[in-house]
Amino acid sequence: MLRNDQLAEWDRDNFFHPSTHLAQFARGDIQNRVITGGKGLYIKDSNGYETLDAFAGLYCVNIGYGRDEVADAIAAQAKELAYYHSYVGHGTEASITLAKMIIDRAPANMSKVYFGLSGSDANETNIKLVWYYNNVLDRPKKKKIISRWRGYHGSGLMTGSLTGLELFHNKFDLPLSQVVHTDAPYYFRRENLDQSEAQFVQQCVDSLEELIAREGADTIAAFIGEPVLGTGGIVPPPEGYWAAIQAVLKKYDILLIADEVVTGFGRLGSMFGSDHYGLEPDIITIAKGLTSAYAPLSGSIVSDKVWKVLEEGTDKLGPIGHGWTYSAHPIGAAAGVANLKLIDEMGLVSNAKEMGAYFNEGLKSALSDISIVGDIRGEGILSAVEFVKDKDTRTFFDPSEKVGPQVSAALLERSKVIARAMPQGDILGFAPPLCMTRDEADIIIEAARDGIASIA
Ligand code: PLP
Repeated sequence: MLRNDQLAEWDRDNFFHPSTHLAQFARGDIQNRVITGGKGLYIKDSNGYETLDAFAGLYCVNIGYGRDEVADAIAAQAKELAYYHSYVGHGTEASITLAKMIIDRAPANMSKVYFGLSGSDANETNIKLVWYYNNVLDRPKKKKIISRWRGYHGSGLMTGSLTGLELFHNKFDLPLSQVVHTDAPYYFRRENLDQSEAQFVQQCVDSLEELIAREGADTIAAFIGEPVLGTGGIVPPPEGYWAAIQAVLKKYDILLIADEVVTGFGRLGSMFGSDHYGLEPDIITIAKGLTSAYAPLSGSIVSDKVWKVLEEGTDKLGPIGHGWTYSAHPIGAAAGVANLKLIDEMGLVSNAKEMGAYFNEGLKSALSDISIVGDIRGEGILSAVEFVKDKDTRTFFDPSEKVGPQVSAALLERSKVIARAMPQGDILGFAPPLCMTRDEADIIIEAARDGIASIA
């Protein structure tokens, strides 16, 4: 292995890191860190420093690090056939098997899966499919997409526009004009503290209806949402939210895209977030948990209703002119097959339910009395702690005080535990691998208590 100082120099001189303050990195205010290995919940760096990764990378390594079953499947596929494309009827045993495994596990009425490489490209695909769908149906005006403030749907031109976080718009000339945003179902941040959850849901519904009336239902093609808001703060929806929103979408013939990049394949303690909240999506986005990030792969699962129009549409409009060189890449597909088998064999969906409940209860009892802890929330193994300056008046910190990053740094330094400072607001996120044990949950809870108390 190369020496650390050599790697640091090459890194600084050559590597353009994503989502990074470039000047701080150049000045050394952000340290380079070379990750060399991982096992279970733990990763190791080139200094030999071991940390418990309570965010599973970017909430994606759901089976945990270092599983030979998936690594061996990748190696076997690479030796047999590293690549062939999937255009015009081509496939591999791995890609065909994986498509079947996904449809077998997907919510009712889902028909086919289109493979991509990342959550972002899958969502770009979804929007193009929705536009194609409305062109087939001779509704050329019905093209706008509604997404929610604080939603995260990727970093592409369209998906960065769908993302409802300013950081992803600022200075990139986004959002594109076809995107309109509606309210986030973020009860903790409601303006009127006297409002009940039911009243707040009604407000979300009213404001969606107002938006649809303003824009015209005949101009709106689809609504995209994560079952649980993820990067925007890890916010499970208030009771009744999805049923109420879905009723509005049905009323105006607006398709629902469930972005399950984070929630797909077990994170909430159900195979899909759509099952968890009773959603009936027209398209589902999958990525991360599909391969547990052992290889890049994503997918767009389309419903029977959408498929029927697309299929008939090709007779009318010609083949779907949309594809990636690496769609259904055999190595990604082999990783996906091995990963989904392992999720079943290890019982990870039920573990996420059981351990998620244990973890969320544990966070509540360990952290509730700390002065800056304003909200503790979670669903399955996906949790967040939100910090406030004053609990009684629910006064928020100024983002410039960077309480989230400070707390995250404290957990790392004091307990060698990685929890993620979410990009907006003062929120610490937890999304450990779904194989987390009780002992590991206890370590994370203890680290959270210690780290937060050290800043409070
Ligand atoms: N959708 C959701 C809900 C996500 O959380 C993410 C990534 O975090 C994406 C889409 C984009 O996925 P990718 O980073 O693989 O492009």
